[in-house]
This record gives sequence, C-alpha cells and structure tokens, in this order.
Amino acid sequence: MSGMLGEYARVAGADVIRQLRLLAEPMRGLRVVHVNSTRLGGGVAEILAKLVPLTSELGLEASWEVVEGSPGFYQCTKLFHNALQGQQAHVPASLIAEYERVSEVNAERLRVALDTADVVFIHDPQPAALLRHFPRRRGKWIWRCHIDASHPHRPVWAYLRSLVGPYDASVFSLADFAQMLPHPSYLIPPSIDPLSAKNAELSAEQVAACCARFGIDRMRPLVVQVSRFDRFKDPVGVVAAFRLARSFIPGLQLVLAGGGAADDPEGEAVLREVEAAAEGDPDIHVLLLPADADEVINALQRAADVVMQKSLKEGFGLTVTEALWKSKPVIGGNTGGIRLQVVDHQTGFLVSSPEGAALRLRHLLHDRRRSAEMGRAGREHVHQNFLITRQLREYLTLMLGLVRGAADRIDLG
Ligand code: UDP
Repeated sequence: MSGMLGEYARVAGADVIRQLRLLAEPMRGLRVVHVNSTRLGGGVAEILAKLVPLTSELGLEASWEVVEGSPGFYQCTKLFHNALQGQQAHVPASLIAEYERVSEVNAERLRVALDTADVVFIHDPQPAALLRHFPRRRGKWIWRCHIDASHPHRPVWAYLRSLVGPYDASVFSLADFAQMLPHPSYLIPPSIDPLSAKNAELSAEQVAACCARFGIDRMRPLVVQVSRFDRFKDPVGVVAAFRLARSFIPGLQLVLAGGGAADDPEGEAVLREVEAAAEGDPDIHVLLLPADADEVINALQRAADVVMQKSLKEGFGLTVTEALWKSKPVIGGNTGGIRLQVVDHQTGFLVSSPEGAALRLRHLLHDRRRSAEMGRAGREHVHQNFLITRQLREYLTLMLGLVRGAADRIDLG
C-alpha cells in the first residue's frame, strides 16, 4: 500500500485502510468542501489539515475554504461561541449586522466552490450564515458543531438555530451536545493524526533539546497543559492546582503553553491574567507559542510526567487525545469530550476543582507504576477510538448516506 494511506496502514492496520477505500469507491469524484474560520490554531484546523488531503487520496475531490472576517465579525462569533457554551452573552445588534455583512461578502467570494460542491461541511458558527446565500443549493450542506452546545444561552441559540436549522444534517461530537434541529443529527467525535509533527515519535534528544530551550529541568517532575489562552481552559485554575500540589511534590514544574488562534480576540487578556497568577515564579513556564509550534508541543507533551487539561467547558479536547497517545496519564476537567477520553481511574482522572487536580497530581507523581499503567491504557484507548482513520470512515459513511440515501441499497463491491 503506497501514498499517505499506506503510512496510516502501518499505524491503524491495513484492514482499516481497505475499508476506507471500499467506502470511498462509490463516491469517486464527489466534490466535498470544508469551510471553517482559520487555517491555523485550534482543533478544527488541526483536523482539516489532514482530513482533506486524505479524502482526496481516496478519490473524492476535497477542498478547504476559510471565511475571512473583520474584528467585529470575530468579536461576534466569539460571543456566539461563548453563548453556545452557556455564557449569558449579549450580542449587540451592530455586531450581528457586521456578522451578516461579512458572511455575505464571503458567500460571494466562495460562490463557485460552494455552488459546485456535492457536499459542504460548515464548521462551527463562524461560517454558518453562508447557507442563506445559496437558496438553490445543489449539494448537501452539513453543519459540523465542535462546541459543547448542550446548554446554550437561549436568545443567541434562537438566532443560530435560524441559521443552522435549514441545513441537511448536523454533526456533534457527543450525544450530550446535540440540540434538537429539524434535520438528522449525527455523532462523530474528533480524532488526531498519529503521523503529524504534533504526534509522531520524537527521539529522547529532541525532547531534551526542547526542555533545555525553555529552561525545564528534566531531573524534576513536570506537569504540562497545552491550550489556547482561553478562560474555559482554566489556566489560572491550573496555576492554583500546581501551587497546592507543590507543597507535597518538591521541585515540581509547570508548563502552560499556548498561542492564540486567529479567530480568538480574547487570548491576550487571558495570557495577562495567567502571567499575573504565575507572579514570576521560575518554576511556572508560561510559553506563548507561534501557530506552527507542533514539534515543540509534541516534545512538551512527551517531557511531561502528567498532562493536565483542566477545562471548565470543552468541546472535545484534542490536547487530551494527543497526550493519551503519548502514553501520558491525563488529569482533565470533568466536562464535555474530556469525559470520553479520560476514563476516570483508568486513563487518568476527572476533576472539578484545583484541589481535586492537586490531589490527583500528587497521587500520579507518587505512584509511578500506576501512572505508567494509565499511560498505556490511554494510548490503547486512542488507538481504538480516536485516530483520524476512524473519523474519516464516519465522514465517508455520512456522505454516502446523504448523497445516496434514496437508494434501496448501496453496493460497496
Ligand atoms: N494547539 C496548538 N498551539 C497552541 C495551543 C493548542 O497547536 O498554542 C493545538 C493543540 O495541540 C490541539 C489543538 O490546537 O491540537 C487544540 O484543540 P482542542 O480541541 O484541545 O481545543 P480548541 O483550541 O479547539 O478549543
């Protein structure tokens, strides 16, 4: 087996790739367009960067488009995002007007690509209003919601629902996140790419060089959280947990590493809050990373004894998947997609407070055998459930169902 898919056969198994080819065969030449709001930063971009070329290699015509926004547009969509996650966000009419204006401009810019598509995946709320500008669409349009929308702020959801209701289908990451919509909804959790720079094996020298670069002492225990600087990721809570744990674990070090995403205007303010909480403590490394720091993130996750993802709300939490794949036990916030991945007491611990996180950290750092067992279980959990090949299979099945759903029988040869 050759090409990119051949490489995946080595990790996921040849049968898995054969099954993908079988599923894709009836859809050869099908035009699939994914639309989101950034090429860099955040989990969606991370997944599309590999999913799109893999879909093409299977014989479909896949492409990836990005909506271009103004500051007002991103301010508005950030409020949508927060409101979907339950915050009582008020979105002023002027921002809605800017959102709709920018959506129209994007619809014109993307008209040819979207008019000729057989399947359009619209990711999250940023590009959701595009559909309005394609009243005679020929393709099937799918709204792919990556966010925990289980308890949205109702006034904002009422508006977003009017945008996404007319889609042909929607996809959520977890059953808990799905909202009632007037079309079929599907559940497809995200995944990681085991061969990307973020997840590929690294040598001990590469990991050591990264630690040396940031002044991390390899002889002392290390806990790492990699996240955008976003309040829902609770970086200040991680600092609090670290402080509590340090009284039991002398020499403990903390890395909080993250960058902003191009579509996230709040990052800088949160970074300042984190720096204030760290108070210049030399054992707390707050690292502002550029968008292309995949290998650095890989090395930091591998250098960690324990990985933390203490989110208060989380769509899925690819950083958790990445850490489990590297055989690290994860202490995760008891929320959203983290619950699918951190099987409590097996692949890590679910926590709801800095005190809980500190207690679990102490346990994992004292009982190294247990910690290693959890790491092994975590890697296997990801191998079985959260590799990109599984997600690709589910997207193919969804597309096949939507474009050939009227057929009595779909022959896979
Ligand atoms: N990430 C990154 N640089 C950063 C912070 C995060 O490349 O500075 C990556 C991280 O490794 C993961 C993704 O962005 O692959 C974040 O996805 P996740 O689902 O954890 O959170 P999101 O940012 O989508 O809320």
